[in-house]
Amino acid sequence: MENETISKNFIEQEIDKDLREGVYDHVCTRFPPEPNGYLHIGHAKSILLNYGLAQEYGGTFHMRFDDTNPTKEKMEFVESIKEDIQWLGADWKKHLYFASDYFDQMYACAVKLIEKGKAYVCDLTPDEIREYRGTLTEPGKNSPYRERTVEENLALFEEMREGKVADGSRVLRAKIDMASPNINMRDPIIYRVAHMSHHNTLDKWCIYPMYDFAHPIEDAIEGITHSICTLEFEDHRPLYDWVVRECEFENPPRQIEFAKLYLTNVVTGKRYIKKLVEDQIVDGWDDPRLVSIAALRRRGFTPESIKMFIDLCGVSKSQSSVDYAMLEYCIREDLKLKKPRVMAVLDPVKLIIDNYPEGEVEYLDAPNNLENEALGNRKVPFCRELYIEREDFMEEPPKKYFRLYPGNEVRLMNAYFVTCTGFEKDEKGNVTVVHCTYDPETKSGSGFSGRKVKGTIHWVSAQHAEKATVRLYENLVDEEKGVYNKEDGSLNLNPNSLTVKEILVEPSLKQAKAYDSFQFVRQGYFCVDARDSRPDNLVFNRIVSLKSSFKLPKK
Ligand code: ATP
Ligand code: MG
Repeated sequence: MENETISKNFIEQEIDKDLREGVYDHVCTRFPPEPNGYLHIGHAKSILLNYGLAQEYGGTFHMRFDDTNPTKEKMEFVESIKEDIQWLGADWKKHLYFASDYFDQMYACAVKLIEKGKAYVCDLTPDEIREYRGTLTEPGKNSPYRERTVEENLALFEEMREGKVADGSRVLRAKIDMASPNINMRDPIIYRVAHMSHHNTLDKWCIYPMYDFAHPIEDAIEGITHSICTLEFEDHRPLYDWVVRECEFENPPRQIEFAKLYLTNVVTGKRYIKKLVEDQIVDGWDDPRLVSIAALRRRGFTPESIKMFIDLCGVSKSQSSVDYAMLEYCIREDLKLKKPRVMAVLDPVKLIIDNYPEGEVEYLDAPNNLENEALGNRKVPFCRELYIEREDFMEEPPKKYFRLYPGNEVRLMNAYFVTCTGFEKDEKGNVTVVHCTYDPETKSGSGFSGRKVKGTIHWVSAQHAEKATVRLYENLVDEEKGVYNKEDGSLNLNPNSLTVKEILVEPSLKQAKAYDSFQFVRQGYFCVDARDSRPDNLVFNRIVSLKSSFKLPKK
């Protein structure tokens, strides 16, 4: 666009500089999830950022499972992660990798470090290692095993690999500097013994590399140029660079950190989502109240809306938290012109049009989307008995109530003007039927201009409506109290996060399929639940209501 000034984020500026100075002549990025849970909205930021950069610079995007820790990883998560990334539209083409495929190379790197005198086998216990490490204010102490000879280290490391060493009794450490002001550089552990089966390499290994050692090697093997990660790894960067340098990789990758995405009052941490699932507070990783990608998809969010959201969030180096309302804004914007606007009654009360001929049915024209004519029209059946929303009738209306009350005239959406003539109640005082008369002159689309009414209400035909179920959602946590309990760190749950209602929808919805979404006029956007909906009982999840106080931040 011509007049738009496109300002580049700080990562793009760094990449531009690297290309200009000839540090790299191309761009290769990666997304490296650990398959130990489902992806969430925060990961979407990382995926779209990495994929987006590869696209923008005509580079390559790698999908790599960082599966170097056999304790928590499962194939179930590998499959879900692939599905989520594909859905988001990040195409890794042929570049799908598993870090565990590089175990041989990582082992070779470890041997190389030993041979260079840059790594040693250490017999200190985990507690002793911690003690020797020192603190932020005090330097560490050298391990008594630090000066082992290369031959001894090679022999001991080989024993570790052969399974002759018990878990936790020996480790391989990088030999860097126990007095470094950066604790990560104080002879970090790079290999540990764990007699565990791995989902990919099975029982081939009983030693596994640590993240800080494995990750730079994975990046270097794949020829990643810009290894983009979140801020908590900033202090690990010197170690990242050390590993790449000492293992003597050509074309070293470069680590750049950005701030994680946090949503205010929303549970994003993998650990917490996992706990909600395990405690059965939600009905799975894709419960629509969660912000895992699977949950957002099931709720009815679109990849476009998530991309719009991530773009609006921007990329920065400072930690901040974004309002969930911004995500809601994005999905409304995305669906506004794309989806039909149909009539559904969430809390039905009967409306009888006493002067409408009994047994007659008219099929009225209803535009699918007044703001987008391309979506065309549909026919809605109209007859003597309808259902309207209970809240659209009041016996004694307050001021400025423009809907039905005795004596008042309103428009029935896509149909006629009706005037309320009376109502019936049951013994408990609940309104059971509202009576009215209609004016045949006022048919929608007939050009009638005799008089105006202030209220328009929606309805469904009693005889033709389909029964359905809706799920209305509120925040999973209690916003007043904040996400976490100050005392024990548990979540402050909102007991009203899910409301289930039996509703009536217009018959055009009968054909709706999983993931189809609609605007239910005046009620919000709804999506057919992919797990529980059946043709004879549709289940809709409310994606978002129509109203919002959210305003786009001024640039
Ligand atoms: P969590 O902190 O939620 O447990 P994680 O960092 O342990 O997530 P990984 O599978 O290691 O999960 O993450 C894969 C990539 O996604 C990493 O590069 C990580 O930095 C990035 N990432 C994780 N959470 C966020 C977030 N909230 N915002 C942006 N990027 C994130
Ligand atoms: Mg992680």
